[in-house]
Amino acid sequence: MSQHVTNGPTALDAQSLPPLSPAEHDRLLPHGNTLQLQGLIDPGKVKADFAVPFNHRAFGDKVLISNDLGDHAWLSPLELQALAYGDVASGTALYDRLASSNFIAATVDIKAQAERWRKKKQYLFYGPSLHAFVLTHRCNHGCQYCHSSIVGMERTDTDMSVEVAERSVDLAFQTTSPGVSIEFQGGEPMANWEVLQHVVEYARQKNALAGKSLSFSLVTNLSLMDEEKLDYLLDRKVQLCTSLDGPAELHNKIRIWKGGNSHEHVIKWMRRINQRYADMGLDPNSYRIEALPTITRQALPHWKAIVDQYLDVGCRAIFLRKLDPFGFAAKSAKTLGYSMDEFLEFYAHAVDYIIELNRQGIQVMERHAAIMLSKILADLEPNYLDLRTPGGACIGQLGYAPDGSIYSSDEGRFVAAMGDDMFKIGTVEDTYHQLVTNGATRAAVMAGLNDGQPDCVSCVYKPWCGQQVEYNYKTQGSLHGRMRDSTWCKKHKSIFDYLMHKVLNANAEDLAMFQRWTINRKLEHFLQDRGTL
Ligand code: SF4
Repeated sequence: MSQHVTNGPTALDAQSLPPLSPAEHDRLLPHGNTLQLQGLIDPGKVKADFAVPFNHRAFGDKVLISNDLGDHAWLSPLELQALAYGDVASGTALYDRLASSNFIAATVDIKAQAERWRKKKQYLFYGPSLHAFVLTHRCNHGCQYCHSSIVGMERTDTDMSVEVAERSVDLAFQTTSPGVSIEFQGGEPMANWEVLQHVVEYARQKNALAGKSLSFSLVTNLSLMDEEKLDYLLDRKVQLCTSLDGPAELHNKIRIWKGGNSHEHVIKWMRRINQRYADMGLDPNSYRIEALPTITRQALPHWKAIVDQYLDVGCRAIFLRKLDPFGFAAKSAKTLGYSMDEFLEFYAHAVDYIIELNRQGIQVMERHAAIMLSKILADLEPNYLDLRTPGGACIGQLGYAPDGSIYSSDEGRFVAAMGDDMFKIGTVEDTYHQLVTNGATRAAVMAGLNDGQPDCVSCVYKPWCGQQVEYNYKTQGSLHGRMRDSTWCKKHKSIFDYLMHKVLNANAEDLAMFQRWTINRKLEHFLQDRGTL
């Protein structure tokens, strides 16, 4: 297979070129520790066919380089210069290191690398696998940041009907993807319980013929959970995910529920569900209810308490998500919002703490970091829709609204909930072919390509990064956005920078921890039996 050699945080090779002389150091590092690359490469001396195309980024006195295949290497300034000038002699340690990570054009095994690329980009060879069904706009919570256009529990007119649900399942099964993952969203999707059950049964029936890799997940606030419903969900292998914003005071301040104590209820059911998984003989290290926090201004000082809360309730992973620019979150930005710098400071504090916990033997990970490290260290493509190119809009996921409208994604329907149908690509009355080939879909896919973005095209993180066109549109007014002053770009570039610094300076134990975060445990239990009932 691939000749890929994962580049760890190796110290610069002792047998490589010598370090900078004091004079070169002063010229290239005039501000102390950040390399000035402009002075390093004379364009007239570049040997264009020696190296494969690569991007670079200075890290103090080192340079990170990456290529389109997703390889990376750390170089000294003079090593970078030697690579650019084609001045690396065969048989040297530097040559071997660059060749093993596919930076020397003449040594690249094109057939093997094409196969490796095809494997990582396999999502390009079939249609959307994630199908987000909004079963209702009703909800009994009044969360201050809620994305969707929620209505009171009496508004049953906003429920998805059985007819629309069946037509939605029919459409979802037309995807060319071998996998169909139906995610129940809302409002609170359990408010439309009968239709939820109907979708599960109808999809299972269809799969008896289709034989796809079918799975269900339910995103719920757990307020309507009872033992009977839980029995059904566990019996039908519906994966469960909830919202937990941290300790009680923080959670209940934001996630307002007139019917009771939201935090107490969520914790009670999370423990109960985890116990039921254990009773079923499922490995408790892998099978737990998932929970997601939404980070508000009020949460920023509480990074430690939030991580501790997740550990306390049995979670071993936490996904630290910035507040989205959609829906009520946009309206309440003044009270809940914060700058990207404030979020990144919060993120670094929280992940530093998570790393420290791991050093003490407590295994826990941050999901954003795990996804990025999977790409960088393990050469995997987790198909996380926000960090792939092209992005997931229309060709990675579809959003199904109760009225039968189809959107580019869940975020696309959030934009619609704000009164803008920009991302409506059709209805359940359309054919799958119409949906995935129409002009809106084509525009979303083209705009979601890193190679079509002026800044991304020369960014060292391009092979591992991605676009979300709905975010670009909402924050900058165009599908493409402008990465130079995009908070999307700033968030991802800063987290990549943070992680690369950690990897560069990691000792063997820390590196083993980061490698552990890249292990993707397949949750086979949640796959429906193929082709049987
Ligand atoms: S979005 Fe920003 S960090 Fe990501 S590839 Fe583009 S320029 Fe780089």
